[in-house]
Amino acid sequence: MDVRFWGTRGSVAKPGPTTLRYGGNTSCVEVRITDGTLIVLDCGTGAHGLGQALLASGEHPLRGHLLITHTHWDHIQGFPFFAPLFVPGNEWDLYAPGSVGQQLETTLAGQMEYTYFPVTLEQLNATIRYHDLVEGQFAIAGVRIITQYLNHPALALGYRLEADGVAVVYAVDHEPHVRDGSATGSLTTRLAGAPPVHREDQRHVEFLAGADLVIHDAQYTAAEYPKKITWGHTPVEWAVDYALAAGAKRLALFHHDPLRDDDALDGLVEICRERVGAAGGGLEVFAAAEGQVLVLTEGEGTTVRSISSTGVAATGEMLGPLTVLVADDDPTIVALLTATLQQDGFRVLTAGDGETALRVARAERPALILLDWRMPGLEGVDVTRALRADADPHLRRVPVVLLTGETGGENTAAGFAAGVTDYLTKPFKPPFVRARVRAWLVRGAAGGRQDVRR
Ligand SMILES: [Zn+2]
Ligand SMILES: [Zn+2]
Repeated sequence: MDVRFWGTRGSVAKPGPTTLRYGGNTSCVEVRITDGTLIVLDCGTGAHGLGQALLASGEHPLRGHLLITHTHWDHIQGFPFFAPLFVPGNEWDLYAPGSVGQQLETTLAGQMEYTYFPVTLEQLNATIRYHDLVEGQFAIAGVRIITQYLNHPALALGYRLEADGVAVVYAVDHEPHVRDGSATGSLTTRLAGAPPVHREDQRHVEFLAGADLVIHDAQYTAAEYPKKITWGHTPVEWAVDYALAAGAKRLALFHHDPLRDDDALDGLVEICRERVGAAGGGLEVFAAAEGQVLVLTEGEGTTVRSISSTGVAATGEMLGPLTVLVADDDPTIVALLTATLQQDGFRVLTAGDGETALRVARAERPALILLDWRMPGLEGVDVTRALRADADPHLRRVPVVLLTGETGGENTAAGFAAGVTDYLTKPFKPPFVRARVRAWLVRGAAGGRQDVRR
């Protein structure tokens, strides 16, 4: 498997004399499998160079698969400039996370409206097929693709590609789930490479498990992070810890901050290598550079995960006008969540205490329940226990998320043990809430058996 970086920058393109070595174009990675299968990860401005190279290769008709993590600008801005899409006879399959009211085709058409671009989506000459993805797995030719939601203020998917006996994970635009106000402290006081305590971070580690190459968000440092909480990106120290806990072989720092010049990126690599050394690990760390090519071959100890779940599940239509129950004794939080959820068309029911929440849950059987941990009378975790023991199987399975001021401590583990699905950490911002709610609902609706909708 060959991996080539065409764009490594995050947020916004940053060409110029200070970014010559690592590059200024935004996210775009080309993956070639030995059998010729072409997979492109994200379509930032780096896609322009890739498109030109593909045309110059003379391969025609050209068949390719474009996997988009999410549709923030830095991941799709190269799309209207990706030349192979304009060539008749070419065939492209496009994939991105699908969710309520958000279909990939509509979103891509949006940035090609007349106000922004002179050519519309319908005028592209190649044959294009759109696939709205959920979490799960599917195959492209001989490549097994595993998808998993990332923690970001937009619904974003990470991609794990397994082929040619090697595994590559592309996990960009992701923020650690642990956020207890001492994120920096926990990084400096806990041992490098220590496994994460939050179940969602553990899931992330499993997603990366044994990978030959992890291409990971590494936008910030632990020192910068306190000012960037909820921006949806990873401090490099956390990227190292994820990769170490996962037993990955190589870590490519990616989604470089536009304010980070080449020398500063060298500094990040040094921080990471010292952390690997402190943990006594054998992880190889480097900062992904535009133009860099990696040839990955099957080696000893390569882990190719086996996942048995398959099947086809719809995404957009199954979310429909769903009901969400919000319970908090703080009316400000209830009002904020209600307004946020109504933007996405959800029917929102509210409660000011645990007893009411339980009664409403039993009567209305909502698709998702958000409960404040600390409420007078029954607390969120007590309500969760009651739901998990209910005679109604829907209430035993429904995603239950606790609103809390802390994550990562003993209470977090106790909540998971009581049947809590996940946590929403205060203070939260509406974009994060919208992304997380989508992930919980899609996961819950598909019941862990998910795949591509064609
Ligand atoms: Zn990004
Ligand atoms: Zn993003």
